Amino acid sequence: MRLTTPPKPVDIAAVFPELVAYARTTVRLHPRPGAVGVHDSSVGGPLLWPADEPWPVCEGFRMDPGHEGQPWHHEPVALVAAAQLYQRDVPELSFLPDADVFQLLWCPIPHATFYPEASVRWRLADDVGQPLIDVAGPSPGSQEDFLLRACTVSPERVVEYPHPEDLPEQLRERLYAWGEPAGGVTSTTCRWRRAPRSAGGSDSPRTRCGRAATRGI
Ligand SMILES: [Zn+2]
Repeated sequence: MRLTTPPKPVDIAAVFPELVAYARTTVRLHPRPGAVGVHDSSVGGPLLWPADEPWPVCEGFRMDPGHEGQPWHHEPVALVAAAQLYQRDVPELSFLPDADVFQLLWCPIPHATFYPEASVRWRLADDVGQPLIDVAGPSPGSQEDFLLRACTVSPERVVEYPHPEDLPEQLRERLYAWGEPAGGVTSTTCRWRRAPRSAGGSDSPRTRCGRAATRGI
């Protein structure tokens, strides 16, 4: 299934030509439930992991000042797969030299109030050899929102602009003034529109695929 972003309701760059300088192309992954293997890009799917490489664990140590020695959890917890991207699918990602696979894992036990504790691996697929097949299930006490359902990805390139708060003050105020008749201005990927400020354009969207949003991907 090919997934695309709806047409822009407003060509904001035509209204504010100076925004063109801030335009960036981003890649939307469009995760959806589906069969994925270790040789596929995925969200929450199996990772291409060497059979002879130990699966990573989180020791739960707190590093923030004043809390050393007070772990977030007392037993080591196996990390869980969050995403795997092959360079052939998302070449825009700045892969490290000699790497063509990006892997994102995180600890399924909350460390802070919102974001999971993440860990990244970069691999060259040809160097993996025999892949790990039997990955243990999530540790007891894992937070359900941090356990993702395996999803395919359908990368799509779209133009994106910064959130108004990240723009120069003068331009930001003009944008807000333009959106004022409708109560404010907000932006989501590729879609600028007049909308109540409480709509929260800076919030990460929740994926309809996994149980948790693919924040930061
Ligand atoms: Zn942890």
